[in-house]
Amino acid sequence: MTRDKRFDILFEPVDIGPVVARNRFYQVPHCNGMGYRDPSAVAAMRGVKAEGGWAVVCTEQVEIHYSSDITPFIELRLWDDRDIPMLAGMAGKIHEHGSLAGLELAYNGLNGPNFYGREVPMAPTGFPVATFTYDPVQARTMDKEDIRNIRRWHRAGALRAKKAGFDLVYVYAGHGLSFIHHFLARRFNHRTDEYGGSLENRVRLLKELLTDTKEAIGDDCAVACRFSLDELMGERGLEKAEAEDMIGLVAEIPDLWDFVLAGWENDSRTSRFCGEGGQEDYLAGVKALTSKPVVGVGRYTSPDRMASIVRKGLVDLVGCARPSIADPFLPEKIREGRLEDVRECIGCNICVSGDFTMSPIRCTQNPSMGEEWRKGWHPERYRPKETDKPVLVIGAGPAGLEAAHALGKRGYEVAIAEKTTELGGRVARESRLPGLAAWARVRDYRVQQIAKLANVETYFDSGLDASNVFELGYPRVVLATGAEWRRDGVGRCWLAPVPAEDGVRVYTPDDIMDGGAQEGERILIWDDDHYYMGGVVAELMARDGRKVVYSTPAVEVSAWTRNTMEQHFIQERLIDLGIEIRCCRNLESLEAGGAELSCVYSGRKERLAADAVVLVTSRQPVAALRTELESRKDEWSAAGIEDVAVIGDALAPATIAHAVYAGRRYAEEIDAPRTTGDSVPFRREIAELLAD
Ligand code: ADP
Ligand code: SF4
Repeated sequence: MTRDKRFDILFEPVDIGPVVARNRFYQVPHCNGMGYRDPSAVAAMRGVKAEGGWAVVCTEQVEIHYSSDITPFIELRLWDDRDIPMLAGMAGKIHEHGSLAGLELAYNGLNGPNFYGREVPMAPTGFPVATFTYDPVQARTMDKEDIRNIRRWHRAGALRAKKAGFDLVYVYAGHGLSFIHHFLARRFNHRTDEYGGSLENRVRLLKELLTDTKEAIGDDCAVACRFSLDELMGERGLEKAEAEDMIGLVAEIPDLWDFVLAGWENDSRTSRFCGEGGQEDYLAGVKALTSKPVVGVGRYTSPDRMASIVRKGLVDLVGCARPSIADPFLPEKIREGRLEDVRECIGCNICVSGDFTMSPIRCTQNPSMGEEWRKGWHPERYRPKETDKPVLVIGAGPAGLEAAHALGKRGYEVAIAEKTTELGGRVARESRLPGLAAWARVRDYRVQQIAKLANVETYFDSGLDASNVFELGYPRVVLATGAEWRRDGVGRCWLAPVPAEDGVRVYTPDDIMDGGAQEGERILIWDDDHYYMGGVVAELMARDGRKVVYSTPAVEVSAWTRNTMEQHFIQERLIDLGIEIRCCRNLESLEAGGAELSCVYSGRKERLAADAVVLVTSRQPVAALRTELESRKDEWSAAGIEDVAVIGDALAPATIAHAVYAGRRYAEEIDAPRTTGDSVPFRREIAELLAD
């Protein structure tokens, strides 16, 4: 296949100070929940990005000093020379594939409570630490000596980065996460000395750090500056006009500008709240302020859009974090003209949840993400099959489709039997809900890949029972039959059915997705699930003109979405839609004409009138086929069945990412002996023990 000429522009080299990027694909720094705890796993993950064609591959933030740690989050550290080998390993993996290795030096200051190092945090002005967990810690105001010290520590960090082999080193002033940002922002900086007050004074420290870094390593390494163009909080925060004036004061010092929005939740909005290229209005015009190359992000997955932002002069390098996570081989696929093979990010921010839950990064679209070293999985390469035994996959949701896709790529003969006339299972259904259209990409990528595989056949309208399975006689059968929302209110609060009077009108999210005429003007949604579904159903019903009350035992709407950085946006949307929000409420009982709720703290009860109640509590595996097969186990061998596995929501309902992972895992382990659980099934690193 040949590349379309209109994408040639993306493969032009770009000079970045003393180094050259071989093309315009730039993997910006991104967290991954692995950091210093899993260094070989991060190194392998970055190496795969380089292999996939990203000209520049950056680390996540790297703490330069023990006096600013962002515990409990797990990032990287360059506190002293002992940290260098870990980082050098990472740079080495990136260099193996001819990419430039970038490192983001960070000093969080006001953004870290220092729970690990127990040092007093430092900030331009001594305010309470700006963490969203409201940690009961205040920073102290830096004096001149502190500033001199931090400049020295930052310089030492830059020298260590160079020693570790990095080609590009960041001065990080972005996202509101860096002490430099706090110096720049009026609201954090109340200083009256030469580092506070006027714009020039607030920029002084950034200028000094850029100059220090250039002097220390600038002959060999490029120096990048990550900078927030806007905080989206009006005049209380940094706004674009002020940001542009600041850039003007230091425009030519760094070798590269990487522009972002602050905070991170504004920069990495989910597809529910922001489309591709959401930062372009902010990027407009900033390139004119500097002669140095500019990087900008915008969850770009379309090569046309990427080429267009370069052509329009918005950026020189296309910055990507999430698109590079969903498809580490995005540049290579565009280079080779294989656009139909691109695995597009769906903008769900499950990757971000790895950082927020301090667990290794996972991705809904790319099940190998985070498993490159731990399990030896690769996003594009699959081990050849080990037997010729064909496989019957039952159910074509994310788990079944991914199992079939990965088995097919391994070379197995696969048949997919799907009950309905549609592939995709829950992603097909959920992608029709407001704001979730991009989720259909989970299905589309797999369906497209399977269509290319002669060894995978798909059968629609094929709801199978045990007798059908026996007749088909596949030696391996995998049940990926999914799950259904419960109608009885069982979830976290209620482990037995919620007491309900006869005649109460109860709906589940499945009813809503099936689109039947739901009756009732006044709808109560009770959300004991806490991820996105309750909020999405509330949005849908409100847009449909119903009077909606959203209630949950949690203290906020869609509480788990804090981990995907959406919670604030969801609650804001529900408020804007006029939905009445009642948090901290248990559901006591369902009554004709309404429900009884109670305060989770005081137990005080209240009656709420409602024509219908939507229960968003938990899901139940679709288990009929499994149960039937298990009860007829004595017939398996006559039918030629050796193994029946259950994966995804059919085993235990969880996120779409879990289901996709389960599909890949099944395909990877199909010929391995069934795990007995007696040994750890993935690689891990254990801390070096020092002598007492
Ligand atoms: P998961 O998230 O685990 O992939 P989904 O609920 O998204 O689960 O998908 C399950 C799929 O399995 C649905 O498309 C459903 O129609 C299909 N399915 C369920 N039971 C059967 C069955 N007995 N035979 C064939 N297909 C089935
Ligand atoms: Fe994109 Fe979701 Fe994967 Fe993150 S987890 S890269 S948002 S598909």
